[in-house]
Amino acid sequence: MPYVVNSDCVLCGACVSGCECGAITEGDTQCHIDPDICIECGTCEANCPSQAISFVDDTKAAD
Ligand code: SF4
Ligand code: SF4
Repeated sequence: MPYVVNSDCVLCGACVSGCECGAITEGDTQCHIDPDICIECGTCEANCPSQAISFVDDTKAAD
C-alpha cells in the first residue's frame, strides 16, 4: 500500500481525474487508492492541494 490518502482529503477530485490508471475512488469522507491498480507514479501526491496523499514504505513495517 505505497500511496495512501489521509483524513486531510477535502474530496476536491484532482487526484481522481489525474490518475491515469483509475486507481483512485471517492469515498464518503476521503479518497481511496487501490494498491492493486496503482503504479506508484506519484502524480496524485504532486496534484493534491491538501497534501493528503503520501508515500508509505510498508516494507519497513513488515516485522
Ligand atoms: S501514484 Fe499514480 S497510479 Fe497511483 S494512485 Fe496516484 S496517480 Fe494513480
Ligand atoms: S487531490 Fe487530495 S484533497 Fe483532492 S480528492 Fe485527492 S486526496 Fe482528496
